[in-house]
Amino acid sequence: MDFNYPPEAEALRDELRAWLDEHWTDEYRSLPSLFACTLGSFELAKHQEWNASLADAGFAAISWPVELGGRGASVMEQVVFAEELHRAGAPHTVNLIGLSNVAPSIMSYGTDEQKTTLLPRMRRGDDIWCQGFSEPDAGSDLASLTTSAVRDGDDYLVNGQKTWNTLGHLANWCELLVRTDTEAPKHKGISCLLVDMTLPGIEVRPLTTIVGDSEFNEIFFTDARVPASALLGAENEGWRVAMTTLNNERGGVAALHLGLRSKISDLLEQAKTTRTGIADRMVADEPALRQRLALLYLEGELLKMLADRAISGAIHGRELGPEASLAKLVWSETSQHVGEVAGDVLGPDANSGAWGRDRVAMRSYTIAGGTTQVNKNIIAQRVLGLPRS
Ligand SMILES: Cc1cc2nc3c(=O)[nH]c(=O)nc-3n(C[C@H](O)[C@H](O)[C@H](O)COP(=O)(O)OP(=O)(O)OC[C@H]3O[C@@H](n4cnc5c(N)ncnc54)[C@H](O)[C@@H]3O)c2cc1C
Repeated sequence: MDFNYPPEAEALRDELRAWLDEHWTDEYRSLPSLFACTLGSFELAKHQEWNASLADAGFAAISWPVELGGRGASVMEQVVFAEELHRAGAPHTVNLIGLSNVAPSIMSYGTDEQKTTLLPRMRRGDDIWCQGFSEPDAGSDLASLTTSAVRDGDDYLVNGQKTWNTLGHLANWCELLVRTDTEAPKHKGISCLLVDMTLPGIEVRPLTTIVGDSEFNEIFFTDARVPASALLGAENEGWRVAMTTLNNERGGVAALHLGLRSKISDLLEQAKTTRTGIADRMVADEPALRQRLALLYLEGELLKMLADRAISGAIHGRELGPEASLAKLVWSETSQHVGEVAGDVLGPDANSGAWGRDRVAMRSYTIAGGTTQVNKNIIAQRVLGLPRS
């Protein structure tokens, strides 16, 4: 399926391209990633500066309503936006989690005050947000979470531990799920708090990943006093808020085919120039490897079709349903296949440099944002109509 881009989307493309040509300079291009162990306060400030310049030009949250600083962009304008940032190799914002996951929940459930105080700073990257959902004993079974919030006057007293918290070491705000009713059935006793991470009683302990990055954190809450005004949605209605957040997280995979298909394309090029060590043969001459590369190419194209289907659904006003789980599943599994085929094509060279890092990082994709097994359960029930497992 190839979309016809409407004229306003093409106009946005031209405007954004011209702006990126001028503003996406080597100074920003050479910055380490937000997760890199080499990221210091200077580099973080530069990332925020880039974010602010995107925001000031009206490019940080184009899908948001105009009154909140967005452009009220159509689905196709959002597609063009993602394509152009990808083409330039430019990062979106420092609020990877804030803009895609947390903001839609604040827009759906937030008070006017929460919207007007929190969203503009999130859009500019002045505040960085993280998502405090998972706990050591509550990941896939998120509703088992035990971090407690007990009402005490105008505050909640929060106690407990979160884990696998992405960006928590840089974040100053957190969308936090807490248990506010221990007697109710587990899905019904959860609330969502928008927590200022600088409050006393909150300790962030970074976890170093296998590639040496600072990506994840544990967060410990010890009698942290969070104002009751931080409640997002009604008390004990946090499960609905969490589902809004998670659906948006899974929905975000619709644009991920761009990065994945670039990697497949790079690999196809590398196969043409990498020698096998047998006579003068290139990797691309080997029948078994050609088949693996062809299959990988098809997987990438399938992912694009799934993304296009989700986009088409959005254009026609359909809610994002289980296709988000399907796209997440195909994206994460195809990513890992890319890593495996890179090993076949490049041999030992696939274990160092960018490929080396990528191939290790890819292992986490089938866990983050809903594991493969959980996504398969969702697809089995909602797409195939099989009974609940
Ligand atoms: C890169 C990355 C970023 C993350 N970022 C965040 C973040 O910012 N904030 C946050 O709160 N969390 C985050 N997480 C945590 C993530 O949400 C959890 O890891 C995930 O939900 C799985 O939970 P778990 O690790 O506790 O595994 P478990 O739920 O303990 O699962 C262990 C294994 O059992 C399987 N399993 C579990 N239940 C079922 C079932 N019903 N049927 C079949 N199999 C099942 C799983 O598929 C998995 O293989 C992140 C994780 C990763 C990898």
